[in-house]
Amino acid sequence: MAGLGADWARDWLLRTAAVIAEHRTELLALDRAIGDGDHGENLDRGFQAVASKLDGAEGTPADLFKLAATTLISTVGGASGPLLGTALLKGSVAVQGREELDSDALVALLTAARDGLVSRGKAEPGDKTMVDAWSPAAIAAGEAATAGASPAEVLAAAAEAAEGGAAATEPLVARKGRASYLGERSAGHRDPGAQSSALILRAAARAAGH
Ligand code: ADP
Ligand code: MG
Ligand code: MG
Repeated sequence: MAGLGADWARDWLLRTAAVIAEHRTELLALDRAIGDGDHGENLDRGFQAVASKLDGAEGTPADLFKLAATTLISTVGGASGPLLGTALLKGSVAVQGREELDSDALVALLTAARDGLVSRGKAEPGDKTMVDAWSPAAIAAGEAATAGASPAEVLAAAAEAAEGGAAATEPLVARKGRASYLGERSAGHRDPGAQSSALILRAAARAAGH
């Protein structure tokens, strides 16, 4: 089974830029409800910058993820930039030097990204943050790979779990980030970062043809 190479990594990041732009208004509204209303703008700016940096960039998947990570960290003012940037940076280290990523490498990528996010933001699953999308995604990817899933199937399993995780943030009370300032009033709204992370992971599966 052929793995996923730099063409997939580039396509993932470009599809992410497109889908975030498409969902900008929705993400802004989610963040307006429980944050400061800038999440769609923050990520749109960040991923448009990533898309421009990718123009002419070459290398392994890890090289492209690293470029995207440093771009997000330097262009996004909000909490989400350093968090997603750290996730991508740690993910890139996990697959460094590989031209193609097989199912196990994709699990390593997603697990390292989740771990990077957790170590940077100190949020646990259930705290109503983007960890609630990335954590089930990494777990589902691992289970799929163990069951013999192809790379595209591993990513589809991750995307589905992330979407479930994002939906499951709705009743939760936020314990990290700006939404935590609202206390109980944060319940009843979906976390914007979990929602955008589900979009990002769905883009990864689509780029793999799933
Ligand atoms: P800001 O809150 O600085 O305006 P954004 O609006 O871009 O940044 O991003 C908000 C999102 O960041 C939240 O919806 C949440 O998913 C995520 N987030 C905030 N703090 C943390 C944290 N400590 N760990 C993980 N994710 C977090
Ligand atoms: Mg915000
Ligand atoms: Mg902000």
